[in-house]
Amino acid sequence: MTENITFFADGMLGSLARKLRIWGFNVLYDTTTDDQLLLDLVRKEKRVLLTADRDLFGIAKKRGINSILVQENTDEDRLIAIFTELQMEEVQLDHAKSRCPKCNGYLVAANRQDLPKKVPHGILNSHQEFYSCSPCDKVYWLGSHWNRILKQAKNIEERLKRD
Ligand SMILES: [Zn+2]
Repeated sequence: MTENITFFADGMLGSLARKLRIWGFNVLYDTTTDDQLLLDLVRKEKRVLLTADRDLFGIAKKRGINSILVQENTDEDRLIAIFTELQMEEVQLDHAKSRCPKCNGYLVAANRQDLPKKVPHGILNSHQEFYSCSPCDKVYWLGSHWNRILKQAKNIEERLKRD
């Protein structure tokens, strides 16, 4: 995949940032950074700036910073626009490559016996696959929430092939 493409999402795009992390992308997201510092960081780390702010987009373009103006209303449409712009029509969601939506850390498969204090008993007994994030300690499992994400991913993959 195009794992060498990394992003910086502006403060208005938190839910898009979380989705892109689930798709496996390295996405920085910071609501506190001022525009000047943000642009310096994006340039230094050669990230793609995702912004809904037309002024910021204009400044970034002028400075030769790779950026995408996000104008769509739903995350599904936004992801399609971004993948299309970056010519990633073949992109596929693979949960083995997902990053932590909360902190951008890598997820690693977790053993059930290590989780009793972190996951509700019912969840622990009714699910097979668990992943944990070492930077923030959050635990994820493949359940109904994941199924919704997968369904959305399938839509996106099909729409990318069709358009
Ligand atoms: Zn995390």
